[in-house]
Order: sequence, then structure tokens, then C-alpha cells
Amino acid sequence: MNVSELARQLRIHPKEMLQILPQYGFDIGMKAVKIDDKVASQIVKQWKYIKREIENKKLKEAEEKKLKEKELRRESGLTVSLPHIITVREFADRMQLPVTQVIMELMKNGILANQNQNIDYDTAAIMAGELGYNVEKEEGDRVDTEKELKKEQAIEAALSRVTDPKPRAPVVVVMGHVDHGKTSLLDTIRHANITSTESGGITQHIGAYQTIWKDPKTKDERAITFIDTPGHEAFTVMRSRGAKIADIAILVVAADDGVKPQTIEVIQIIKAAKLPIVVALNKIDKEGADAQRVKTELSTHDIIPEEWGGNVPVVEISAKKKLNIDKLLDVLLLVSDVNAENIQADPNIPAVGTIIESNMDKNIGPVATVLIQAGTLRKNDPLVVHGEIYGKVRAMKNYRGEVIESAGPSMPAQIIGFKVAPEVGDILDVSLAEGAEKIDVKQKRNKQSGAEKYTVQQTESTTEEDGKKRTLNLVIKADVLGSLEAIIGSFEKIQHDEVGVKIIGKGLGNITEDDIHKAEAGNGILVGFKVRPTPSADGDIREKGMQFHQFDVIYSLFDWVKEELTKMLSNEKIVKEIGIMKILAIFRTEKSSMIVGGRVEDGKVRKDCLVRVKRDGEIIGTGKVSRCQMAKSESKEIPSGSEGGITFEGKVKIEEGDVLEAYTEESKARALVFKV
Ligand code: GDP
Repeated sequence: MNVSELARQLRIHPKEMLQILPQYGFDIGMKAVKIDDKVASQIVKQWKYIKREIENKKLKEAEEKKLKEKELRRESGLTVSLPHIITVREFADRMQLPVTQVIMELMKNGILANQNQNIDYDTAAIMAGELGYNVEKEEGDRVDTEKELKKEQAIEAALSRVTDPKPRAPVVVVMGHVDHGKTSLLDTIRHANITSTESGGITQHIGAYQTIWKDPKTKDERAITFIDTPGHEAFTVMRSRGAKIADIAILVVAADDGVKPQTIEVIQIIKAAKLPIVVALNKIDKEGADAQRVKTELSTHDIIPEEWGGNVPVVEISAKKKLNIDKLLDVLLLVSDVNAENIQADPNIPAVGTIIESNMDKNIGPVATVLIQAGTLRKNDPLVVHGEIYGKVRAMKNYRGEVIESAGPSMPAQIIGFKVAPEVGDILDVSLAEGAEKIDVKQKRNKQSGAEKYTVQQTESTTEEDGKKRTLNLVIKADVLGSLEAIIGSFEKIQHDEVGVKIIGKGLGNITEDDIHKAEAGNGILVGFKVRPTPSADGDIREKGMQFHQFDVIYSLFDWVKEELTKMLSNEKIVKEIGIMKILAIFRTEKSSMIVGGRVEDGKVRKDCLVRVKRDGEIIGTGKVSRCQMAKSESKEIPSGSEGGITFEGKVKIEEGDVLEAYTEESKARALVFKV
């Protein structure tokens, strides 16, 4: 075999190959032109390992170099000063490092950011420290979570204006580990509504609903508001936006499964938000349910059941069998009474509330649900968000889809009349209407749909370095950590040599521009589990023609992933070698076709097969056989040992003595078989 042919097969420069081979026991000399076939095949077999070793060596050298540089920086006491938020490019500039290196370092730490994206001080400081810099905080740096802070202040300022507070319905969020029964519980409670049968059931999903329940003591009918996207908005809003929407949290724990890491996380969040907790010990109907064990587990996390002398009511329920739901609702009203001081609002002031859902309806335009927290919202009221007038209330509906004229404290209301969609977590404050400017709809929409233009990236998979494994790159956002972990966990089942899933971004809450950037940077697909893009991200996705998929069930998501991976597999071409023909004569040469004659020395040459043209062992071009002829008549194929003529379609000019390797290419649908 020619040395150059071997190098081509191994995808390496011949010179480099000749330098490397002696190190691995193949002494073929630096000037070798030909190589023994046996040795060549040994090299091909070994190449995988040799290549890996070379790469490892290179990596090690690079690491060592970086370490040395880092030590040097440390010794020379280099200091970088960092603001609260900094773009990756600016960060790299300040450290005088190439931006690509900084992006790589970030990636190693699980942060996928492009050079224009912001990273916060904490992240930057850790990175800079790792790179050998001393870090100092930039003087006079404003705390720049401004937007979030403003929201928090806005709602607190608005709510503190309250003059004559009256009791209002408690607002309840349901949280807990995935599959412990949050959705089932919300559904069951929805139907437990004592008035729902009269009105013919509830049809609308607007992000929250109310249940009317009889007070166990006074027998009065009282409303309880439930945020009905389990965890989701409530979770993220409370956690990251500082908005306060809930008064009580129900912690759902499955009695047959117990406290899970996500249960613990939820406990911490509820505690940080200082919300009263009611534990719903769900699935007590199930075999294997062990309420005592779960209570013990809970108490190790400082959730001490009332019956054990603590202050957390624990109600054993079955959301599926509708057991003890009445008890749970009774307890919610009791807890609400205990916290009555915090659960009140003045209904007679201009409305203040938080946006809990926001969509763009194709026909109606922006539609958003606001949870009123104080005051009353009426038809024709101006919709003031961020101090700008976003529109006015043209129509309002309650959670049953009924048109309403007004919405008071603790009521969720779906509003039509926004000219620009607000974002979930935005504060609506009607009292700020005076002096507020009307929003510049055009400008805002432009901004929301992304002023910058990006190139659309159609590729949805990339090939990993070894050139074999192709990956489906995903940016996954989910409503709660439990779901996110369950989703990512489910991918661990996928162990395949040729295809796999690569998570290039993940997180909780709605899909934002940030996620879009991540997907763009990594050729990824956006996936939302029980979450949607924010209105502005939605515009971006459409404009850029990006792929976005939404799921509500983990299995459907998993099935979709399997389908995508299967598609990637079925795209694979299967090459079958069918024969070899030696060219003996050239009959006719045209611009992109030739008629040539030769002898088939092995296998056969068939009409419509593909060929590689080889000269002196080197491939010089490829083409297709469009006609075969034997003894002056057309034939389907020319078998081994026979002579015949073919019409060759291709650019390369065949010469006498060339060899044609005939092959076929098939794209075969293959099933995805997982390695266990
Ligand atoms: P979520 O992920 O927390 O919203 O959980 P789901 O409400 O989707 O419930 C997960 C699974 O548990 C579903 O298959 C439900 O049918 C089941 N499930 C929920 N509550 C109960 C219950 O009280 N008893 C039993 N046996 N199954 C339940």
C-alpha cells in the first residue's frame, strides 16, 4: 500500500504519520513510500488507540502550559477588578486572555456563554481565581440586579400603600418532587370546588384558579386561590424575582417514596420565602405507603408535624382516590386564619398585581393573567407595567372562562387589552397611570423580537471529535428542579456508540433570550418542560426559525428524543463494495461523462452503482455508472471476469490503466438499540 493512501485513510498528514509511527513500534522509515499491507492493516487496527494517546498527550501538554501560566500570574500577583456584571469579552480583556480560552474555561465549569453574554460577579470571580488572578470588586459598582430589585420594591411599595385592609383569599402554591402528585392534587381540588358542579365545571386554564370551600368553624363560604402550574411560575417567580405571590405552600410528598433531594430543595425555598407550610402526604392509598417513615424523614429536615409537637400540619391524602381532600382544604383555611395578619389587602384602591401567565394569541394578540394582590381591577383601567402604559383592560375573564367586570384581591384574571405582552413576574400597578407614558409599541416589539440578527443554524446535531458519535444537542428548561433532574436522568438510559444526547444548557423557568443564545452557540434545540418562551424570546425563536419543543410529560419528551436519535441513525449511509473494474480503453470523452471499457476483476459493476476512480492506488475522483454494455448490447451488470463498456458520469477524466471501485450507498432505517 502507498504510504499516502494509508495516511489518507487515517486522516493525517503523511509526514506527521511517518513521524508518529516509530514511537508506536512501526519502524517503516521516514522516507518510506510503500508499506507492507500486513503492517498497514496492523496500523489501521491500532490507530484508534494511537490517536487517543496522541490527543491525550497534546491535552496534557496544553494543560501543563496553562498551569505554568497560571502559576506565573499568581507569583506576579496580577489583580483583576470586576464589576457586578460583565460580558465574557470584557472579562477576557481585563485578564488579557484570549476570549476563546475564557469561553473554554467557562464551559469546563458548565457555563455555556458566548463573548457577548454577561456573567455575574460571583462566576467571574471564581473563574479569575482559578486562572491565577487576585480579584477585587470594582469600586462604586451598583448592585445591578436592578430589574429584579425594582420589581421587589415595586410590589412592596405598592402593597405598603394599602390603607384599609380587609381579609382576602389565601394564595396557595403546590410544590414537591416530580411525580409525587402535584398536578393530580390541583386537579382534584379544582373539582372539589363546592360550586363547580352548579356552573358546569371549569374549562379554562389561566395559571391560577379559585376553590370555594366551607369554613369548618363558621360554615361561611370562603375562596382559596391556587396557583395551578405546579411549582413553575410560583417557584421561579418567588425564587429569582423576589415577587411575593403566595401566602401558603403545600409541600406534596408521596407516602410511598418519601423525602427526595428535590423535596429538600423545596423545603429550603419555602423556608427562605418564610411561607407557612402544609404537608400533603400523598398516595396513602398505595401499597408501600409509609406515613410514619416519611414524617420521620421530614422531621430530620426541620419539618416537625403538629402531632409530634411541631408547627407543620401534615394531612395524609390520596389525590387519586380523593381521600382527605376536604381535610386538607379545612387545614388551609385554618392556616390562613393563623396568618390572617399577612393575608389581607385593601380592595378599594387601584389594582396592584403580578403577571403569572403571558401568551401571544394568534388571533387576539397578547393575553396575560394577573393575580390581583391589592385593589380592584376594572374594565377600561390602564395597564401600567414598568411605569409605562401597556394598554387598557378591554375584557377580563375568570378561571371559568366567564367574562367579569372587575377583579379584586387574590383573584386571578385573564386580561385582553395589552398592546405589548408583559413578562411573567412583571408588576401591574394601576395607581402609577398618572404621568406614565404610553408604551412605544413599535419600539418595544422590535426590542422583544430581538434587534440583532443572527444567522439561522439549521444543524441540530454535531459530530463529536472521534468522528463517529453524533449528538442531539439540547437546551432544556423545566418548571422545577425535580422535573429537570428526572429528564436528564432519563437520558442516562441512552448509551449508544453512534448517537447520544448532549445537554448544552439547562435551567428552571421560562425560555429566555439567554437560552436562545446557548442553543445558537451549540447548534442546539430548545426544549421546554411545562415552560414556554417569554414573549420576547418567543419572537426571537420565530424570527430565527429555531426549533422549540414543549412537553408536559417526561415520557413524551423521552420518546421525542428517541425519535430524533433514530432519525440521526437512519440518516447514516451504508456503503457496500460491489466490485472492481480495470480500465482497458477509453471510447469517448465528454464534459461530464465518458464511455470506457474494461474488465471486471472482482465482484461486478452494475448500472446505477457509484465508483471511485483510482490511479496508482490513489483515489482521484468519484462518479456514477449510468449504463452498462456487454457484447454490444445493454446489460444490467457486468459480472466478474467479463469485459464490457460503461457510461461513467463524473468530472474526473479516466485513463487507461485506472481502476474503478464500484460500490452502492444505502441509507437504511435502523432501530435505536441502547447499550445497557
Ligand atoms: P406531579 O409530577 O407531582 O405533578 O405528579 P402527578 O400529579 O403527575 O402524578 C404522578 C403520578 O402519580 C401519576 O401517575 C398519578 O396518577 C399518580 N398519583 C398521583 N396521586 C396519586 C395518589 O394519591 N395515589 C396513587 N396511587 N397515585 C397517584
